[in-house]
Amino acid sequence: MRYSPLRHLPSLVWKRRPIQLTFFVTRRCNARCPFCFYLNDTDGAEPRAEEFSLEEVRQTAPSLGRLLWLAFSGGEPYLRRDLVELSRVFYAENRPAIMLYSTNGLLPELVADRTERILAHCRNSTVVVKVSLDGIGEEHDRLRATPGSFERAVRTYHLLARLLNRYPNFELGVNTVLLRGNQDRLDALIEFVRTLPGLRAHTISLVRGDPRDAWCKEVDPAAYRRAAARLEAGLTGGSDPLYRFAGARLKAAQDILQRRLIHDTLTEHKRQIPCYAGRLNLVLNESGELFACEMLSSSLGNLREHGYDARRVLDGVRARAILGGIAEGRCHCTHECYFITNILFNPRLYPALACEYLRLGRAQPGGMAASLLPR
Ligand code: SF4
Repeated sequence: MRYSPLRHLPSLVWKRRPIQLTFFVTRRCNARCPFCFYLNDTDGAEPRAEEFSLEEVRQTAPSLGRLLWLAFSGGEPYLRRDLVELSRVFYAENRPAIMLYSTNGLLPELVADRTERILAHCRNSTVVVKVSLDGIGEEHDRLRATPGSFERAVRTYHLLARLLNRYPNFELGVNTVLLRGNQDRLDALIEFVRTLPGLRAHTISLVRGDPRDAWCKEVDPAAYRRAAARLEAGLTGGSDPLYRFAGARLKAAQDILQRRLIHDTLTEHKRQIPCYAGRLNLVLNESGELFACEMLSSSLGNLREHGYDARRVLDGVRARAILGGIAEGRCHCTHECYFITNILFNPRLYPALACEYLRLGRAQPGGMAASLLPR
């Protein structure tokens, strides 16, 4: 039986322990995207001795408790040779309802092989893989400064799609980073992605952090709004809806509300809703540092210095000071993963969520898009 998300309902009231962990398993990457907020010029594809090891993960996992959502990120997470073993440790100890893997898709056979081994073992979790596509053909290669990357990413997608029939716990999607370089050509990309077999989600991530090339961040909010409207048309309605699972309408309603809040954050340069970073969400990096989120550079503490016990880090003076600042609203961002938790675990947003839900019920195909047009 699948690990149920419903067992995390108490977090609607008590927000005292993490239910979402993002693990940056490595800083290494085989692409050179100029918009990456995580890659240093000095980073290469060779393993680093100090990467948080499998044994260190084994020691840490019990202190994290049950997880709703576990995301593997990087760098390119599939470059970790022990990605399957890392997944198995978390699966056994933390029973995540959702395990998410992002990939640039540059290693098609390796990604497909490791994903299948994860799927075969972690059958009670929904395993989601998101392949990055930021443009079509040479545009993708140029944006990522990595020749041949589009062809390889599409091949990776197709190899992964072959696993869909064999593993009912598998969901396959595409993620697109929206940046200045592609903001005017997203319609064609969205249409292309919709033709991919087995697609369950196409998400957009606004470029964030401090990329090496600051030009990438000059995004027009109207372009974001247009892309959001385009993506949401046909999510649940029409003859070929993208969302076909139980709760699809609720998920679509959350998507719409989330993108509206992100748009408003972008234009007003301030936080729109409370953020549960550090209370419901945590980030672990490849050196064992825990962070409330990936946007804040202040570490809550290093697990290596706290006996591999996340609770000890979170109970520390330093962590409490950082979490206090977050609760006071001293920062803002457009990080999509955190918006999901910040919406779904905030009952005060349920009336707004219900409005979108009802609007979807009334909408004709294309009606969702209308709800995103300028108010
Ligand atoms: S608002 Fe953004 S930057 Fe601030 S704590 Fe939340 S996720 Fe981090």
